[in-house]
Amino acid sequence: MAEKYIIVTGGVLSGIGKGVVSASIGRLLKELGLKVNSLKIDPYLNVDAGTMNPNQHGEVFVTEDGYEADLDLGHYERFLGIEMKSFNNMTAGQVYKYVIEKEREGKYLGATVQMVPHVTERIKERIEEIDTEVLLIEIGGTVGDIEGEIFLEAVRELSFEKGRENFMFIHVTFVPYLHVTNEFKTKPTQQSIQLLRRIGIQPDMLLVRTEKEIDLSSLEKVALFGGVPLEYVVNLPDLANVYEVPQMLYEKNIHVLISSKLNLEISKEVGELSWKCPKTFKNLKIAMICKYLGTDDAYKSIMESVFLSGTKRPDLINSEELEEMNEEEIRILLSKYEGIIIPGGFGSRGIEGKIKAIKYARENNVPLLGICLGMQLMVIEYARNVFDYKEANSTEFDENTPYPVIDLMEEQKKMLNLGGTMRLGAQKIEIFPNTKLHKIYGEKNSVLERHRHRYEVNYKEFENMFEKGKNVPNKLSISAMTDFVEAIELNSHPFYIGIQYHPEFKTKVGDPHPIFKAFIEAIEKNK
Ligand code: GLN
Repeated sequence: MAEKYIIVTGGVLSGIGKGVVSASIGRLLKELGLKVNSLKIDPYLNVDAGTMNPNQHGEVFVTEDGYEADLDLGHYERFLGIEMKSFNNMTAGQVYKYVIEKEREGKYLGATVQMVPHVTERIKERIEEIDTEVLLIEIGGTVGDIEGEIFLEAVRELSFEKGRENFMFIHVTFVPYLHVTNEFKTKPTQQSIQLLRRIGIQPDMLLVRTEKEIDLSSLEKVALFGGVPLEYVVNLPDLANVYEVPQMLYEKNIHVLISSKLNLEISKEVGELSWKCPKTFKNLKIAMICKYLGTDDAYKSIMESVFLSGTKRPDLINSEELEEMNEEEIRILLSKYEGIIIPGGFGSRGIEGKIKAIKYARENNVPLLGICLGMQLMVIEYARNVFDYKEANSTEFDENTPYPVIDLMEEQKKMLNLGGTMRLGAQKIEIFPNTKLHKIYGEKNSVLERHRHRYEVNYKEFENMFEKGKNVPNKLSISAMTDFVEAIELNSHPFYIGIQYHPEFKTKVGDPHPIFKAFIEAIEKNK
């Protein structure tokens, strides 16, 4: 159970940075000595984000406990610096599934099961599962969405049960600027506040997102229509770097306004925020060879891991385009880049293009980081071009390959029969001494890293391709293992590392995952 609740809702448009603003509020309060946790509510009917298309919805973020979450949980993990768990995300799908299953089990004792009180009761139970001083609850979507309404009703009820003095409603809204008439337009914001009021929620604070600094008279209008004191109406203009938002909130005194509304004691009043967020960015040219090009969000955690290591974000290159190219064309395209990342993925689209990029990076000493599918493709490329296993493949892409160097292991086949699908979440990995990876991890012999995949390196059948913990010419060196191969490397290359797990999910602001730091150092050294 939490002592104080901050509910963040959004108005007018989605995509105005409500997640970043909420995570930044959390960070600011944490900086001031409060214990903060978060709950992201997603009003969609999916039970989790595992099956959602990254092009539409952004990456699937995997938590330490193996939950497949919305990418917003990644913001919270990076901003708050704490590990998110499955209880930090609630979807409408989970709530309805629970209520319907409970009804089927006869546990409602003959009652007519209804949205209010049964669904709202479950929502409140989920909220109350989180123990912390301040709980930030971000409700996804915008006020007025049909599927979000029941969550608003639940938090409204809870605010009365817990005492309105323990609740703060913050509405993040957008005020567009009309270039033709040279003015800000507050009408959509007024209307979204009215929608909130109609369900019985009076916002305590309005965070007004704009393209550029707004004029005072527009803010006064919003305050008047919103019934919110002017000092609680705060303008947040666009910032190029999202990690500067907590500082901006601090400068605008948001923490003072929140603590006076909620009666919070803040231990630290003044000074700079303590987090070490890079302010300048190296202009290294990194290419990410991938298949989702619609939005950076599809590879959010990788992009942010590079950025938080102090380097501008990688360029996305279409792996399908590479499929059609010959070696010379690949060389012309990729020679502009100083480092290459091959991210995770599922399905065969574009994999031959990625394999070509891997060959180019291996042969031309370009630093290469392969993550999950990326690592599997590094093994396939090596089998085909160094071991002459010409048709080597993963059975994910070619069930009949004569050289299944990536395959489902017996244990997994059993798991699949039982309806289990993937290896998910954190597992303890052994790192072999005298490898590059061991050095990268500061000589740690074991680490916890997060997984999300089905297929594994077929080490048993292709042992001859590998050397465990040792670097031997013309073999891939295995640098980490569980029961399965977890990482490979080539010592003779400036940086040729493939990992079966996802280091990008463990980056925090001020503490990017060491593999990204090492990758970037290798690129600089190689220049
Ligand atoms: N498709 C591969 C597998 O299932 C890799 C998954 C991934 O990259 N996350 O093993």
